[in-house]
Amino acid sequence: MELSSPLSIVKGLGPAREKVLNEQGLFTVSDILYYFPRRHLDRTVLTAIKKLEKGNIVNIIASVETYGERSIRRGKIFQVIVSDGTGLLTLSWFNGVRYIKNMIKKGQRLAIFGKVDWYKGFTITHPEFEILDDTDDVSILGGVIPIYPLTKEFHSVGLEQRRLRSIIKKVLESKLLIPEIFSQLALNKLNLIPLEKALNLIHFSENIGELDLAIRRLKFDEHFFLQLLVALKKNEIKSNGTKALSDIGPYFKKISKSLDFELTNAQKRVIQDIHKDLKFSRPMNRLIQGDVGCGKTVIAILIAALAIGNNVQVAVLVPTEILAVQHFLSFKSEFDKVNIACSLLVGKMKKIEREPILNGLKTGRVSAVIGTHALIQKDVNFKNLGLVIIDEQHRFGVNQRAQILKKGFNPHLMSMTATPIPRTLAITYHGDMDLSIIDELPSNRLPVKTKVVDPMRMKKVYDFIKDKISLGKQCIIVYPLVEESEKSDLAASVEAYEILSNSHFLNIHVGLLHGKMKTNEKENIIRQFKDNKIKILVSTTVVEVGLDIPNATIMLVEHAERFGLTQLHQLRGRVGRGSEKSYCILVKRNITDVSQTRLAIMEQTNDGFEIADADLQLRGPGEFFGLRQSGFVQYKIANLATDGEIIREARQFAFDLVKADPNLQSQSNKEIRKIFKNNYADQIKNLKLI
Ligand code: ADP
Ligand code: MG
Repeated sequence: MELSSPLSIVKGLGPAREKVLNEQGLFTVSDILYYFPRRHLDRTVLTAIKKLEKGNIVNIIASVETYGERSIRRGKIFQVIVSDGTGLLTLSWFNGVRYIKNMIKKGQRLAIFGKVDWYKGFTITHPEFEILDDTDDVSILGGVIPIYPLTKEFHSVGLEQRRLRSIIKKVLESKLLIPEIFSQLALNKLNLIPLEKALNLIHFSENIGELDLAIRRLKFDEHFFLQLLVALKKNEIKSNGTKALSDIGPYFKKISKSLDFELTNAQKRVIQDIHKDLKFSRPMNRLIQGDVGCGKTVIAILIAALAIGNNVQVAVLVPTEILAVQHFLSFKSEFDKVNIACSLLVGKMKKIEREPILNGLKTGRVSAVIGTHALIQKDVNFKNLGLVIIDEQHRFGVNQRAQILKKGFNPHLMSMTATPIPRTLAITYHGDMDLSIIDELPSNRLPVKTKVVDPMRMKKVYDFIKDKISLGKQCIIVYPLVEESEKSDLAASVEAYEILSNSHFLNIHVGLLHGKMKTNEKENIIRQFKDNKIKILVSTTVVEVGLDIPNATIMLVEHAERFGLTQLHQLRGRVGRGSEKSYCILVKRNITDVSQTRLAIMEQTNDGFEIADADLQLRGPGEFFGLRQSGFVQYKIANLATDGEIIREARQFAFDLVKADPNLQSQSNKEIRKIFKNNYADQIKNLKLI
């Protein structure tokens, strides 16, 4: 048996089971060894029922005595009474837990985890639990019991906890060769146990100390391969040649002199960072990170002007059409001063509008183009694309980035984001880029005053808005996505627009903006809002990025509880862009404990980093990044949010390794190269060096 052998060679896995495992993505002996327990039950810290105390969080093993369901005032309650020989404990579930009802049988042994409460006896509400099979099962195990993630498909072919355990045990006890990927020297230095040992201990260990060693080793491996990918990518980018953009050129100077504000020190520093990069004939790959409103756009305009002064073209890629339109207007008003030809390219354009732009890019007549995903299309070709700027880069996947870059000969890349990600995440997700941080807002800014309000007080809120409008200010009202469907968020905003413009705001010019509008309609609405003709803009979340209208000083977010904190922070960033006091009103329509806590954070701070940290804690990294980063691997055991120290060690080790052996050619890195090529095929297919 080898790690790469198919599952059929494992005793106890017939065709039916193999099929189910295949469907779960498990094909080889190695896959099943890397099917790690979801959690571990430490038998040395089991609590006897008679020792329970209210409020404690406990692990208990007990058998089902009886169970049943009954009606209560608000629905139904399903209860299971268990005993461990020292006492009785009630487990309770409220409403709609059919799958649990179907699983429970009399006499079953359960491993239970949860917080103890007292209600006519000890009880745990909605406990975590696993079904253990029978007594000898647990007795063949060491002190720590592995609990695997089993879906109902597993159960349907008899792959229960006990069966899976014994299969994995058999595999580990066979003459299976598990090659080590690191040298003994490295293992010592990094304080890691051998891989073979780790794979044994993660499944079967005597105590938590052993288990921790296994976890550390396996986490390290996962982070290591990811950092290896990052290191190789970075190396590869640096090994390409490109045109250096060394002149400041006439446009940059002229535009920077004509700005009606002084650049902040942070903006100046970032421009210097970028200019230094551009002087080399290796492509720049730099991420500019700065909180909403810190002034990234003007940097993009100036750098684009600098590049064009070196006779190359510039493409600016943005995630939404509204942002494209908005940026186009900003770029154009500066570029008109120096006669740079600049165009807008978005998906909804007619052929007749599109054609001359495509032609202009191909012949070089157009020097700068601002656009959405439409820029990535096949028929978009450049004469000499020298610089790509990606705004709100966290909204793009790795592939889209690669596609736009292919339109030039190794063009320089400048990415921008307002999403302040905690450092441990940044070195992984942006690890192949150099980073510049804008840690300063223009000096005229006042913090946005934020208030969470109850729907009962809407009349007051509307009066407040009317008041501000009579003083010349403007307001944005945002409606969220309802149930994930664009149609209904559209419906909600359209409906609100009708109601508001015919009731509270009868004599005020209210405008409507949503994603389904034609490009020129959007352009028209934004322009009217910019010119202060429209006083109140009712919108869907399409305004999340891009709207830059300093006179808008009130942001009202409806159903605020439906948004993530980072998104609320972005939305709030639409106001407070000038020197006037600004307000953000978050209307909570449906509130739970969690959303209450979340929204309160918005009242307390305007700092994007603090908000991102809170968001990460509350939602975890997966949600934090959304689906956008789909180019990355799924973690088995690693945790980006909490493995800070291991990540740093793995990163250092991976970067040193690539420095010493850039193509992983040496004999000592043979195993690493092999696993890397097997397991990370998708991620490395664009790497030429490997
Ligand atoms: P973001 O970094 O969120 O993209 P923007 O580039 O849209 O921010 O800038 C926000 C607002 O601040 C814009 O209206 C812009 O003109 C203005 N701005 C940018 N830099 C400065 C500065 N140094 N001083 C004053 N206002 C500035
Ligand atoms: Mg911006």
